[in-house]
Amino acid sequence: MSRNLELFERAQQSIPGGVNSPVRAFRAVGGTPRFFARGEGAYFWDADGKRHIDYVGSWGPLILGHACPEVVEAVCARAKDGLSFGAPTELEIEMAELLCATVPNMELVRLVSSGTEATMSALRLARGYTGRHRIIKFEGCYHGHADSLLVKAGSGALTLGQPSSGGVPPEVAGYTTVLTYNDCAQIEDAFKQYDDIAAVIVEPVAGNMNLVPATPEFLQTLRRLCTAHGAVLIFDEVMCGFRVHPRGAQGLYEVDADLVTLGKVIGGGMPVGAFGGRREIMQSIAPLGPVYQAGTLSGNPVAVIAGLVTLKRVLEPGFHDALAATTRKLVDGLQNVAAKHGAAFSAASVGSMFGIYFRAAPPASFAEVMEADKEAFNRFFHAMLDRGVYFAPSAFEAGFVSAAHGALEIEATLAAADEAFAA
Ligand code: PMP
Repeated sequence: MSRNLELFERAQQSIPGGVNSPVRAFRAVGGTPRFFARGEGAYFWDADGKRHIDYVGSWGPLILGHACPEVVEAVCARAKDGLSFGAPTELEIEMAELLCATVPNMELVRLVSSGTEATMSALRLARGYTGRHRIIKFEGCYHGHADSLLVKAGSGALTLGQPSSGGVPPEVAGYTTVLTYNDCAQIEDAFKQYDDIAAVIVEPVAGNMNLVPATPEFLQTLRRLCTAHGAVLIFDEVMCGFRVHPRGAQGLYEVDADLVTLGKVIGGGMPVGAFGGRREIMQSIAPLGPVYQAGTLSGNPVAVIAGLVTLKRVLEPGFHDALAATTRKLVDGLQNVAAKHGAAFSAASVGSMFGIYFRAAPPASFAEVMEADKEAFNRFFHAMLDRGVYFAPSAFEAGFVSAAHGALEIEATLAAADEAFAA
């Protein structure tokens, strides 16, 4: 029996489904999840000792690759001086100053320990600041697992939200209106229909329905309507922040957000999230204002140093362009290989995020994402896994390239893809 299977069977005895986050369970693609023992650069090794080229990067954070020596050394050194104080440290100021200097419109920022905390807190803040209850989100966007965000679209536009998770009270879901991503007419209508909209939250480059970038017109429409109606525009950049542009999606699209949520890359593999934005809004947070938000381990020095070291590398001149070029080589190469085999396949990238789609052209909406051939993806996923290339175990996830991925890894990936498409 493989060690991966042995561990998976053992894990299921004490952990629900054997995993601590559902998509790890391989339910969508079938088969046994790989348990990982070690990572280095673009590679990681599973419990059977098999090496994989990693295009998941811990779902985004590992922009410098696995076990980046600079990050690991900084974490080890910092840990020797204490893991957490539950009191302020100078490092947190350094992180906040760096974020405020880099992310447009970020005048004040608070650190948390996950993306979910960041989005949940940003929503509470938007509600507290506006004194309104309603949240607008878009189908296919994931913003963490807070109750009011675990709502997907009803069948028609502007239908009352239906909880898409058990355990979410209908009263809570009822304050969440789900609209179609990239549909400007629907959001115009929503602002005519509702006078209680506190916030519009959006992934400006969506990475949770595979990769689907917003159109510039869509984001400009959100900005215009939020300004006109006094609603808070939240860019959820937990995934796309520091991946699509050095200044995030605001930099890429030149559209201003009121609040921005961050996570993943800003922790460099350690648990760090953040939400921040316009001073006037952020001043509503405790202890300055009436909106409560807190965290025992928020801003702990070991996590913060991992993020700081990572961010400083990411912000070096040329870093983003080089990483984006590597990512483009990957998606162009995959498209060429697929075309050679006559497969209905397309691929796209924004910065170091990419999407692979088993349909002729990249999707522009959730509905188009759903039209992709999921069975073909699953066969491709396993064929690549067998050949030591690890893509996300779901047709609906974006992929990530790190600075540790070089020409060697891209060539090896394309050679594996050639065999996989042939098979
Ligand atoms: N927002 C977005 C856009 C995300 O991609 C994620 C995680 N995939 C989250 C929020 C939640 O972050 P976390 O898993 O750290 O709670």
